[in-house]
Amino acid sequence: MSEPRRLARDLTEPEPIPAAGIARAVELMQSGRLFRYGEMGADQLDVSLLEQEFAAFVGRKFCVAVNSGGCAIFLALKIAGVEPGDAVLVNGFTLAPVPGAILHAGAQPVIVEVTGDYVIDPTDLHAKIRSSGAKTLLLSHMRGHIADMDQVSRICAGEGVTLVEDCAHALSAFWGERMIGSFGFAAAYSAQTYKHLNAGEGGFLVLDEPEAAARAILHSGSYMLHSQHLSTPGAEALRRVSNETPNFSMRMTALAAAMLRPQLAELPRRVARWNTIHRRIATGLARSQWIALPRPDAKARFSATSIQFSIPALPPQGIEMVLATAKRRGLPIKWFGAAEQAGFTSAPRHWIYAGEQGELARTHAVLASLMDIRTPVTLTDDECDLIAEIVREAIDEAIAASSQQPGSSPDLKPSA
Ligand SMILES: *Cc1c(COP(=O)(O)O)cnc(C)c1O
Repeated sequence: MSEPRRLARDLTEPEPIPAAGIARAVELMQSGRLFRYGEMGADQLDVSLLEQEFAAFVGRKFCVAVNSGGCAIFLALKIAGVEPGDAVLVNGFTLAPVPGAILHAGAQPVIVEVTGDYVIDPTDLHAKIRSSGAKTLLLSHMRGHIADMDQVSRICAGEGVTLVEDCAHALSAFWGERMIGSFGFAAAYSAQTYKHLNAGEGGFLVLDEPEAAARAILHSGSYMLHSQHLSTPGAEALRRVSNETPNFSMRMTALAAAMLRPQLAELPRRVARWNTIHRRIATGLARSQWIALPRPDAKARFSATSIQFSIPALPPQGIEMVLATAKRRGLPIKWFGAAEQAGFTSAPRHWIYAGEQGELARTHAVLASLMDIRTPVTLTDDECDLIAEIVREAIDEAIAASSQQPGSSPDLKPSA
């Protein structure tokens, strides 16, 4: 019998920064002028140009570049008028910096259940708006899964709830013809290494409302040098709020912007490849009767840098077997149902700091069998097929092993 094939590449390995970004970064380092502002007027405009380009890319009026995605969310909540002690709704399938940003703003997370398609549950959203009195929804398009935005928008409008979008995994995703990130009062993005754009650290806040944009610029830490912004609500709007808006020092460095500008220009081409990779792996996974894939609405057009699926029939020990087998064959799989939080995966039950949230039974049931694989844009078709094959075979082995165990559950059923 031949050895099972191994995946011979590191899925966590990022790609190099485009040559133009490296050249510009070196130039900036040689000049030493890494701060986005210059006291004698703009020394260079890397961050300001990037803000202008990013706002145009997502079709919003204003963009403020900051030091991280988590800080972009925090700023979005501040300028949305969230006050200390306020309740802020957030879906339960997300990353720890998201409830973290709510706490950073002094507010109280109210976690909303998610569905088997990994998106916010509209029924629970409605119920929790009523029970908590929250006036803000922080909707996290986690791993690029897009909720029914018509329905979410309708619920928010009907209940007087302000929508803020966490687009850390949804840069370039759409709902119908409308770009994700254009539905809410504001949207936040991340440029941390494992997102669509990589500067190591970085974030963006986009919005349309001039006075809120002025506040965001001042909060981000403009040292009254904000005339150097190209994406700007204008001097008058900035002057009006300048004495009442504290500096939180959350700026993006010129170096980050230098690395990001050429990446943004390349993004549409990369997103097309990422989505091809996603479809190819999903097709391979769908061949297993044990794997359940989410069924996105026809209007949702994702922009995937990773793939998620569920193995509903397997108990935790079975899933651990799958992870171990896949790992031996060179494929790291993450699991949102793990007992301990690990590398970019955690569940609401780990976020003790978020306060008592009730059972969240549905969310935890979904996360218990939710698996996650990172998909670098350079994956070849053959590697995509191999990834799906390793997952299918690892599951088959785990299913065979658990049905041989004495006293094992007799009701292992393929997914519907
Ligand atoms: C990465 C991420 C963030 C925060 O980004 P940082 O830049 O790491 O602060 C927010 N939301 C989601 C869903 C993310 O994956």
